[in-house]
Amino acid sequence: FKSVNPVDRLLLKGLNFFAQIIARTGVAIPSQPSTVKEIMRTYGTAGLTVYSGLTGDSPIKNWAGVGYTEFPNAYKLSDESVIANQKRKYACQACPMACGGIVDIKEGRYKGTVGHKPEYETLCSFGGLILHDDLDTVVEINELCNREGIDTISAGGAVAFAIECYKNGIIDDKQTKGLKLDWGKSAEILKLTEMIIDREGIGDLLADGVKRAAAKLGRGSEAYAVHAGGQELPMHDSRLDEGMGIAYQCEPTPGRHTISSYLYGHLYQTKKRLPGTKKLISAASGKDGKKVALYTGTSILMQLINGSGVCEFGIMCSNLPLTDYLNTVTGWNLSRDDYMKTGERILSMRKAFNAREGVKPADSKLHFRAAGNPPLNAGPLKGKTVDMDNLESQFFTMMGWDPATGGPTKAKMAELGIAELFSK
Ligand code: SF4
Repeated sequence: FKSVNPVDRLLLKGLNFFAQIIARTGVAIPSQPSTVKEIMRTYGTAGLTVYSGLTGDSPIKNWAGVGYTEFPNAYKLSDESVIANQKRKYACQACPMACGGIVDIKEGRYKGTVGHKPEYETLCSFGGLILHDDLDTVVEINELCNREGIDTISAGGAVAFAIECYKNGIIDDKQTKGLKLDWGKSAEILKLTEMIIDREGIGDLLADGVKRAAAKLGRGSEAYAVHAGGQELPMHDSRLDEGMGIAYQCEPTPGRHTISSYLYGHLYQTKKRLPGTKKLISAASGKDGKKVALYTGTSILMQLINGSGVCEFGIMCSNLPLTDYLNTVTGWNLSRDDYMKTGERILSMRKAFNAREGVKPADSKLHFRAAGNPPLNAGPLKGKTVDMDNLESQFFTMMGWDPATGGPTKAKMAELGIAELFSK
């Protein structure tokens, strides 16, 4: 820790303090790979919970609340609180970052539970999203979901949906088997998660996800079913970083937070890694257009990162020359522009696959709450509405995708050399 540069050390020590400043003033501290690296090394993704909760990055109260007024206890699910029970660090094979950890609950009702340190997404989806700040219960739920193969983002989204439905009289005590659902109630939240896993009572409906649950329940419940294309949304607010909205709505796999965003464009150093992105940016018009261009370059970069099996955190937190490494490993001698074309081809092929299978852009529209319709009336995101139609149109144009089918145009397929693959 002492070897860390002084700015990073200050930021690490004052996560809560800086998050409060950012949330209240809107003055952001520029993210830099070295800071993120130190957060990841020290806390893993759990280092970001308080910062995100207070600045408006992580959605609060099923996307209808404000972090610093309605969830001021975000620190209980963040950084030092999370590693207080860490028994040891945990890493993927040979990774020097070791962002994971094994935690051991030593007292209380979950005494004896040993499992993986919850990730940021879990700490938020079973934290601020449902106004719940009991860390031990989150650790217990995390372990339960991991062992049952249940995604904690979707599970947290389903619990948030159920709480709002219950509070608005759409589901009743009979369906919840007597559970009095409300924000922040640990025992009820744990029990409901178990019911989802066991498909018991209302859990049977929720296990299919909020989109299907709302379609069956009706009675206005779709207002609380926050998803894109049936995928419950991750814990990065598209009203703060509109690029997240593009990712959630427009990518071949909707509702993912691990592809691209405006912030990721800087964190992944897209312009340096794929200089062709600069051409996209210069050709784009307006502030929004230039941001969408950076988003586009980053989405293409992510196809290369994922396609080569590299951990995205390693790329995010370093200056590792990905394309040079790929040349060394393969013996190829491709330029960064060649790699950019490869990434573009991967991304477009995935969209072409969807289009061929009949998946249309209309099938993955971002839920209106996540686009700020209506906007929040307080907090860092007050008054913010995202024009998703405009962003989708700009992104599709840059990629050469047809707005009706969502797939690449014939001209784009010919340019990428994939027309034959999709000729039938
Ligand atoms: S490879 Fe990635 S996920 Fe695995 S420990 Fe390293 S940084 Fe974490």
